[in-house]
Amino acid sequence: MSSTTHEIVILGGNFAGLEVVHHLFRQTLPLLKPLPKSPSYHVTLVSPSTQYYFKVGAPRAIVKPNAFPQNLLLSSIPDALAQYGPACQFLQGKAVALEAAQRIVSVETSTGETKPLPYNSLFICTGTTSASPLWSIHADHTITEAAVASMHSQLPKTKSVLIAGAGAVGVETAGEIAHNYPNAKVTLVGSVLPRLKPATQSKAKKLLAEARVEMVDALVKGTEQTAPNSTTVQLGNGEARTVEMFIDARGAHKINSDFLPGAWLDKTGRVNTRDAYFRVKGEDAGNTYVVGDIVAGSDGGEWRVVVDDSWYGEQGREAG
Ligand SMILES: Cc1cc2nc3c(=O)[nH]c(=O)nc-3n(C[C@H](O)[C@H](O)[C@H](O)COP(=O)(O)OP(=O)(O)OC[C@H]3O[C@@H](n4cnc5c(N)ncnc54)[C@H](O)[C@@H]3O)c2cc1C
Repeated sequence: MSSTTHEIVILGGNFAGLEVVHHLFRQTLPLLKPLPKSPSYHVTLVSPSTQYYFKVGAPRAIVKPNAFPQNLLLSSIPDALAQYGPACQFLQGKAVALEAAQRIVSVETSTGETKPLPYNSLFICTGTTSASPLWSIHADHTITEAAVASMHSQLPKTKSVLIAGAGAVGVETAGEIAHNYPNAKVTLVGSVLPRLKPATQSKAKKLLAEARVEMVDALVKGTEQTAPNSTTVQLGNGEARTVEMFIDARGAHKINSDFLPGAWLDKTGRVNTRDAYFRVKGEDAGNTYVVGDIVAGSDGGEWRVVVDDSWYGEQGREAG
């Protein structure tokens, strides 16, 4: 890092991280560059996958191969950054440790080496990971790609599907499957859209019932795959259901903050902020920002790039 170069490191390359990169290059840096004594700026985006995942489209994309253009579902991050030239670099890897006082983040690269990355400014955009690779990339994108392909081949022959979690993702997925595969019995387990208004919940339930989706207001206590196409699901109400396909839509399984100082985190593992500029609150957190699902207390969606598990419902919150 040259003394006249301001190094900006962004951790996480999905909605929040990419939004930060584009905003910096298109809005912020053009305003800063003309200032006297302005340094040059260099941005490094770190993410485990070379692909961005448009997870918002997943409930449609997993149901039918042609429902959603596959090249929009997964798309190349390095290709998207090429427009910014050498001032913007992509590093495939994941942050594994942070020495905040020294301003160095350690990155385990895709080739297995650990690389220290010094920064002047840091953006934490590492989001959350769902239990199912259908809703978030698990390390490399090929796992999600294979899971989506498996849905495409299995769904047309599946006679029973149970979806755990009745937040927006579970509800949308149940509706899509019931609509596209009317011969499959679809069961949706969980409280339907628990964080929305009662009128919206009632409307959703009516539409799901019209699509012949069975709704069971219970928690999923455990699952056991007894054969390749047979899973037994234990419900909190004492029932057990055996289905051909089980889909876990219970939200954030992991908050991706394990490499950060514990003192920066709230009790859910998300990062505390100290002001409306999303500056991180904590010792040695100067020039450190947090954006997206990983922000403490966030409650939106990707359009606001701050979100919690409301997309999944109460079960997701508990699973997280
Ligand atoms: C199926 C589904 C449908 C949705 N629909 C909507 C919708 O219609 N409208 C809406 O507003 N919101 C919706 N959401 C929510 C929205 O997708 C999220 O709010 C958004 O993805 C948050 O973006 P993010 O970048 O903060 O986190 P993420 O999308 O979780 O991205 C985090 C990134 O960080 C990477 N990462 C993880 N750990 C590390 C590490 N240690 N080092 C470096 N990188 C790391 C991950 O691999 C990933 O690339 C939906 C979510 C799902 C799952």
